[in-house]
Parts: sequence; C-alpha cells; structure tokens
Amino acid sequence: MSFVDAIVIGAGFGGLYNLLKLKELGLSVRGFDKAPEIGGTWYWSQYPGATSDSASEIYRFRFNKDLLQTDEWPNHYVSQQGSLQYLKNIAKLYDLEKDIQLNTKLISASFDSASSIWTATFDNGEVWKSTYLILAVGCFHTPNYPKITGLDKFKGPVYHTAVWTEQYDLKNKRVGIIGNGSSGAQILVNIADDVKQVISFQRSAQYVAPHPNKPVSAEYRANVNKNYDEIWKMVDNHPTAMPLEHQATPAMSVSPEERERIWEDIWNKKSGFSYMYGVFGDIHSSEEANKELCKFFNKKIAQIVEDPEKVKKLTPNELYGKRPVTLSNYYETFNKKNVDIVNYQHTPFVEVTENGIRTTEKLHELDVIILATGFEVVDGSYATIDISGRNETLSQQWARDGVSSYLSIGDTGFPNMFFIAGPQSPLGNMPPMIETQGTFISGMIAKAEKLKKENGGKPVLIEADTEAKKGWMDLCRQIANGSLFRNVKSYIFGNNGPRGEDNPGIFWLAGYTNYRKAVLEAAEKDYAGFKFSS
Ligand code: NAP
Repeated sequence: MSFVDAIVIGAGFGGLYNLLKLKELGLSVRGFDKAPEIGGTWYWSQYPGATSDSASEIYRFRFNKDLLQTDEWPNHYVSQQGSLQYLKNIAKLYDLEKDIQLNTKLISASFDSASSIWTATFDNGEVWKSTYLILAVGCFHTPNYPKITGLDKFKGPVYHTAVWTEQYDLKNKRVGIIGNGSSGAQILVNIADDVKQVISFQRSAQYVAPHPNKPVSAEYRANVNKNYDEIWKMVDNHPTAMPLEHQATPAMSVSPEERERIWEDIWNKKSGFSYMYGVFGDIHSSEEANKELCKFFNKKIAQIVEDPEKVKKLTPNELYGKRPVTLSNYYETFNKKNVDIVNYQHTPFVEVTENGIRTTEKLHELDVIILATGFEVVDGSYATIDISGRNETLSQQWARDGVSSYLSIGDTGFPNMFFIAGPQSPLGNMPPMIETQGTFISGMIAKAEKLKKENGGKPVLIEADTEAKKGWMDLCRQIANGSLFRNVKSYIFGNNGPRGEDNPGIFWLAGYTNYRKAVLEAAEKDYAGFKFSS
C-alpha cells in the first residue's frame, strides 16, 4: 500500500490541470486513468470527424501560451488528434507523465473518519491512501447505450461514438447512425463520402449552425499571442467561455431586416455558437426571440436542402434549446445521393432486425449501426465507482438528494474530495471552467496545508457546508426551471440516458461568467461555504 498527499483520477484536461496545480504546492500527487493513454474524452472519442466545435481555435489553458507557437493548430477548430496531442504535450512539458498511472481504473474510494484518510482501490489490486481525492472523471464519460428493441439481433457491428478508440472500416458499407447531437452530426458529415450509404436516424431533428473552419494563418496566430490576455478576458466574460463577442441586446429590439442581416453574417462568417450566445442576449430566455431564430434556421434548411421531403424531416419541431450543434456542411451533406434521414416523429421506430432498422415505413437495410447516443450524463461517470464518505456512499446521497454538489466542487459528507466538471458545472468550453475549479481547489488545499502545519501536522478537513450546499442547489434548480431550455427534452436535464428522470439543476445554466464570479467570490471570502476543521 502506498501513500500520497493527493490522488487525481482522470488524465484529461481536468486531471492534468489539477495534477499540475497540486504538484506546484509541493504535494506528492499520483494520477490514475483507466485508459491506456493520456487524453480523457479526446482519447475515447476518436470517431471520424471528432473535432472541438466549441473552443473555437487555440485557447485552452492560459498558462501554456508557448504551445501556441507549435504546429498543432492547423485549423481554427481543433481536431480530436490535435486535442489529444495537445494534452500529451502538456503532460510532457510539465513532466507529468511519470506521475500518471494508465490502464488503472478506480474501483472504490472510502473515507476513514478516524484517520481522515482516503483509501482508493484499483482494478489491478493496488491500494493507495491519500489526504485529498480529486475526481476529474468528466461529466460526459459513461456511454449511453439506450434500450433499443432488437439491437442485440443485428448481425453487423454496432459502434458507439463515446468509446471509439480504433478506426473501423466503413468503406462501401451501409451505415445507420442513431442520434444527431454533436457526435452524430460530425460523424455523418465525415463519413458520407466513404460509405455506400448513410442514414441519420433522428428521434428529434436538431438545428445545426455552421462554423467557419479554416487554416490558422501565421498572422492570426501572432495576433493571438500578442493579445492573449485580452482574449482571455473575452473568454471569462462569455457565457460558454469562448473567445467570442457577447452582447446583451434583445433580438426583437432591432428591425427584422437588421436581425436577418446579423444572422446571415453569422451563418457565413462566425462560430455557430454566436446564435445562442453572441449577438443577441435573449435567445435562451425569450420564446419570441427564439422562435424568430427558428424561422431563420428553417429558411436556411429549405434553401440548402434540395429534396423537400428531407427538408420536412430535417426541420425541428421544437425551440432552439438543446446544446447547440455547430458544424459546417451539415445540411449540404443531405444533398448527396447516398445520404438520407429518417425522422422517427414522421415514421416511428419499430425494431432493429438482423438486417437493419425497421420503421413504420419500411426496413432500412444496414451493414453497420453507429450509436451516437451520448452519455449517461454526470452521475453515470461516478456510477461504476463505489465512493463512501463519512456516513454513506455518494450514490446513496445522490439517490436521496438528487445529483448534487456545492459549487460543483465538493459535497457534504465527503471531506477532502473534490469534483472537476462534476454536477452543476456550467456547460461550454470546458478548459477555462476546469481552470476555475482547479485553481479554487488548489487554493483551498494550500490553506488546509498551512493550517495543518500550524496545527502541528494534525490533518485538516475541507467540507462543503450543508446550508451552503442547499442554497447553491436551490439556486441551480431555480435557474434551470426558469430557463427556456426547460421547453426542450435534452440531456441538459439529465433525462435522455438510462437513469432517465428529469433533473433540473444537474448543470449550472446561468453561464460560465456567472459561475466564475460565484467561485471567485467564494474564494475571496476565504472559501465561503467550505468548512475547514481538524
Ligand atoms: P447528445 O448530444 O446527448 O446526443 C445524443 C443523441 O442521441 C440525440 O440526438 C438523442 O436524441 C439521441 N438518442 C438518445 N437516445 C436515443 C434513443 N433511445 N433512440 C434514438 N435516439 C436517441 O450526445 P453527443 O452528440 O455524443 O454529445 C454529448 C456531449 O458531448 C454534448 O455536450 C456534445 O455537445 C459534446 N460533444 C462536443 C463535441 C465538441 O466538438 N466539443 C463533439 C461531440 C460531442 P434526442 O435529441 O431526441 O434526445
């Protein structure tokens, strides 16, 4: 059995950042990941076309400006391979590789109140003890395998975009993709030219706005380096932590012609995220504004897609309120003869047979089925780990209280255990959010270590206060219930996975800027809401 000051689970963006921050404090730290490589989600999601659609370009961790000089950023939207390489470079640059144990999955972690020590047990039989436990396991980790009638009868391969770690031969195959979120849309566009036929099976059609991916020029890069701090200010003031302009103007406060001009301009030149969080400030809060934007999108779909039947099937029948999907050439791809859409709302799903997917219209014969059905959001990431706190397990606590936290960083009853991108985290460009959480956690640990020294080495416990957690969760739920996203069924409320139940407040829906503000304010007030005891 070995002892370290801190154990960090996960070697993606969250794990690496926290490993580094805690090492900077002079602590002994050990990182673990069940994957054979560093990279987190960018290791698991190697499906064709996997690309960061949100970070828009090259801003990841603000401490690594030097990496911006390298050649890993050929395009504005970084490919999966680029992100994976970036994370491996970070690990190398900061000498973290030797601290990370790969191919090692955490099975259980338990807190002993008598010794104030965590014990972590791994699938290879190793047992490690530590004072601090950081769970950087991601909010999108465990694949969502929906119960689909007959899927086990299908005689061809079934792949899932969330566990795609090798390349499969799809050439000349008839492929069915179930699910049309970001993953389903990206893979569709990227395999269309290689396969014999691809059909997108959609439970709910979703708006897809283009993003202008193109090579990053030397001038552009030089400009980014020169204005690095200003760009980060933009990120910190953007609701989804992106380096995009953000205005509060209500959409209906300008003339229809002006709205049209602005939206047309985004379509042709800017990140598709600008529709939800960019030029107008109320697309996510005003139904009238949102419906107006839907009309604009509907017109675009009808202009681009040539077959009127496909237009009908691709046109969503709900507000623009899911996690925005942004991708170029999405609607254009449906003009290819070998690309089709099945909308279950028009022709309901009946069953999967050994030869394909049957709807009420017909049997669609397939060689391969791809599940692009997303993740068991948030709690799924923790479900396979048996985590015991002071009095009960995390799953027992969450079964009773809902999937909850304080500040998305800690939970009552689980001292010295911290989440990265856990429940109630904001959605968006995750690295800045991870920095905010990691900096807060390392600040608290620095304080605890100082107190420990002053206490003659007696361990100090950091634990979320019950009242603070209640206030935070009430706020998260109030924000979620008041948001327009509530009108649309989506994983944002935790309700598309096998856990199923609607869970308002599973994410923080008031944007990254407000989240960052809440975390910084708590830090300024000496980590308000967390108790330090020994
Ligand atoms: P997702 O957004 O959760 O989409 C899942 C899709 O599967 C939806 O279209 C959903 O339909 C469908 N689905 C779920 N269960 C189904 C069932 N039983 N039958 C038929 N369809 C079903 O998953 P994702 O696309 O993998 O994305 C997951 C997260 O990763 C999102 O936050 C996404 O934005 C993010 N992501 C980011 C990037 C990036 O570039 N940064 C790339 C990929 C993914 P409904 O809409 O009807 O629920």
